[in-house]
Amino acid sequence: MSSSIIAEIIAIGDELTSGFRLDTNSQWLAQQLGDLGVVVLHHSTVGDDMDANVDVFRHAFTRADLIITTGGLGPTADDLTRQALAKAAGVELELHDDQLEHLKAFFTRRGRTMTPSNEIQAHFPAGAKVVPNPEGTAPGIELGYRSKERATFVFCLPGVPAEMKQMFAQTLQKRIKDITGETQIIHHHVVRCFGSGESHIESLLPDLVKRGRDPQVGITASRGTISLRLTTKADSIAECLKIMAPTLKTIDGCLGDLVFGFNDDTLESVVAARYVEARKTISITDAGMLGAPGVLLKQSAAPLVAAEIADFEKDGVTTRAVEILERSGSDVGVAIGPIERDEAIVAAGESKYVVAVATKGSDDVKTHEFMFSGHSAIRETLANKRVLNVLRLA
Ligand code: AMP
Ligand code: MG
Repeated sequence: MSSSIIAEIIAIGDELTSGFRLDTNSQWLAQQLGDLGVVVLHHSTVGDDMDANVDVFRHAFTRADLIITTGGLGPTADDLTRQALAKAAGVELELHDDQLEHLKAFFTRRGRTMTPSNEIQAHFPAGAKVVPNPEGTAPGIELGYRSKERATFVFCLPGVPAEMKQMFAQTLQKRIKDITGETQIIHHHVVRCFGSGESHIESLLPDLVKRGRDPQVGITASRGTISLRLTTKADSIAECLKIMAPTLKTIDGCLGDLVFGFNDDTLESVVAARYVEARKTISITDAGMLGAPGVLLKQSAAPLVAAEIADFEKDGVTTRAVEILERSGSDVGVAIGPIERDEAIVAAGESKYVVAVATKGSDDVKTHEFMFSGHSAIRETLANKRVLNVLRLA
């Protein structure tokens, strides 16, 4: 699945080397390069120091065919990437008049005046090409460098993740494909499941999670959500999805309602979308969850008309669901609780709570009993997800 191109990713910034901020750009870029069949052999992280930056570039020239840097392209004194690259490559910085005009126009459009320090952003190492940055001030740089050992393609992108990702998608992806000669793409499609454990879900899927199949299926669990990641390679995303279709159908047939969504879907986003589409509203009252399910739903723009924190006993849950349904005038009324958090009771498996769902026009209140359990770090998340899952299936 891979070409013989060797890549190095360089993350630049004091905030990274000091541990103030996590280098998520390198992780994202490495995944993207993997999808393009490029082997990433080195990740380097370097602070905002000129000599250190030049050093990292020189080192990378000896061992990488492709270098991608992020950070240090801004206008301030600690942004040194363009200068360091020019120095390491042994070339001068040149002013690109069109980029200067572009920068000035950018500031005019936003009703701001450009400070002289921004002019540095219109300077590029001699022989470099501009990588457009449609929504930011700092354009990226592409430079070819030939050392004794090899020819290296260098791409410098800004540190701001949104700009970096957009520029990678718009310009670098295509350029890197030209460089590697690889015409096919690797595509991932993730099926999200909730309501059963990882091993049980795997046992429902005969032979899908075995090596060497196409599409490859990997299974992972995170905070109660089980994800099946399908991977294949073809000329386009549409072609990849076509290859995946029979496997997706098998998964759907084997897992049914355990599947709640795909890729970036969350239980709350799926619940919100379902109720919006059905034009149904929700009201919630809970004893012990401090309104958390309501907050999650509200953040996903669910049609929530009431979310209340209450205090009631286990035998009152059903009554409370009907009560909030009628009082709020919603289509679905949910009551949750009460939740007993005493460690000894939880450890003994005796902390049980009820989720009751009342529906407008029906006298039948559905109740679901759950155990407040799981690792202490994810217990609350699991409890929230169980409520959302009940709402999804209601
Ligand atoms: P810079 O382009 O160096 O001015 O970086 C702009 C901002 O992008 C920084 O303040 C960070 O918040 C963010 N940033 C820079 N590098 C990274 C990175 N490797 N991973 C995640 N965020 C980053
Ligand atoms: Mg910086």
